[in-house]
Order: sequence, then structure tokens, then C-alpha cells
Amino acid sequence: MTINFNCPECGKKYSTEDKNIGFKFVCKQCKTKIQVPDDFIQENLNDIEKLLDEKKYDDVWKKIKPYLNPKNPHKEIGIIYSILATKGGRNCVRIEETPTWEDIAKIIDKTIIKDPTNSDLFYYRGVVSNGFEPPEKAYKYFLKSYKLRERADAAEMLALFSFNDFDNITATKKWFERAADLGSKSSTVYNFLLVIYPEFGEHMPQQYLDQAEIAGSSRYSLSNEAFQKIIDLVEEEKKRLEDQI
Ligand SMILES: [Zn+2]
Repeated sequence: MTINFNCPECGKKYSTEDKNIGFKFVCKQCKTKIQVPDDFIQENLNDIEKLLDEKKYDDVWKKIKPYLNPKNPHKEIGIIYSILATKGGRNCVRIEETPTWEDIAKIIDKTIIKDPTNSDLFYYRGVVSNGFEPPEKAYKYFLKSYKLRERADAAEMLALFSFNDFDNITATKKWFERAADLGSKSSTVYNFLLVIYPEFGEHMPQQYLDQAEIAGSSRYSLSNEAFQKIIDLVEEEKKRLEDQI
């Protein structure tokens, strides 16, 4: 497949094979150091997401199949697979000879070796990990993703793991606060904070209250079980702190 692109400095036109993605060279015209871009995501992501929303999985498959070359796996295909998995569930990525969670994880792992500082890859690896690996492992991927780039979605996942899998209410609060500080628009973040703050006997900062309103969240939208679990965990935490004194 041929890739067409322009020098970002002077606009000179270039065209090359997709096997050269990521290759760095000096622009013949302006001598700027440039890199063969990888526009697969930008060019295809909107289409793919739209097809996924319409549940047209066969069409999605047709779109990504040309990029599946085992000898030269496309740099971003791990991301595409994980989006498939996240949006469509495992059935969606099982079309034709499509892979299991384990296979998707392997594809993303290979991509990570090529691109070890890509926060997105670790985020999606965490999503896939959550499908078949222990929570400790998924947590590590989200943490890595967050460390590479402070992002609200990773902070939210870290909060949810702290709450659901590790019963750690202090960490849950800390991570949801980080997500809110990073401008999260997820109602889940504020649903939890709206319950956690009063249970700790604190007032929620006005900034979070404003963000909660924009995100359309309310404390009553948490399930009874989640609500009760927060109350129990805060009580345990208070008792633990009292015992320490
Ligand atoms: Zn140039």
C-alpha cells in the first residue's frame, strides 16, 4: 500500500510504501528531519468506530484485514483490535479467523515492543488484559499508560480497579480525584466522588461539583451495592486509622 504525505515544514510531496512507516529522513527541499507518517488511525478510526456502532462487524473486518500482515504487522493494528474488543466485545473480533483476547494481547505486545512509549497502547493492553488476566496485571498496564501520559481515562480505570478488585477506598478516592483534576468528562468519576466525599466527612470541592453537573452525574446513579461498598470501605478505613493512633 502506498502512503502519500507532505513535509510538515515546506509542504513538499512524498510517496512511499507502507513498510517504510516510521522511517526518518531529511527533506530534500528544506532539510527538516521528517518521519514517514502513520495515518491509518486518523484515516480509518472514525469509519471503524461508526461501523462498530452500527454493529457492521463484517465491514470492519474488511477494512482492517488488508493491514494484517504477520511479517510486518501494522504499527497501529493493536490499537484497532483493542478498539474492536472494547466496543464490540469478543464476538466482534471473532469474525472469520479472528483472535481471542490472548491473541489480541500478543498483537498489542508486539506493537508495544516497536513503540514502547505509546500511552494508548498500554491503555488498550489494560482493557484487553481485563478480559482474561488477573486484575493486578491489568492494573499495571493502566498505571504504565498513566505514567507515560497523565490521562483521565487511565486514572478512572485505576480508581475502578482500586475499588472493585483491591477494596482500597483511599486509592479509589485519589485516582478519581486525579481523573477529575485532568478534566474527566466521565459521569462515573463524579458519581463515585459525590458519594465518597460525604462518607469521608468532607465537602466536595466546587470545581468537582461543577464538573459533575456538566458530566450529568448524580450520587443516586450509583448502584445500591456500590453505594454500600463505599460506606463499608470508608468505615473500615476509619477504623484502621483509629487503630494506628
Ligand atoms: Zn521540507
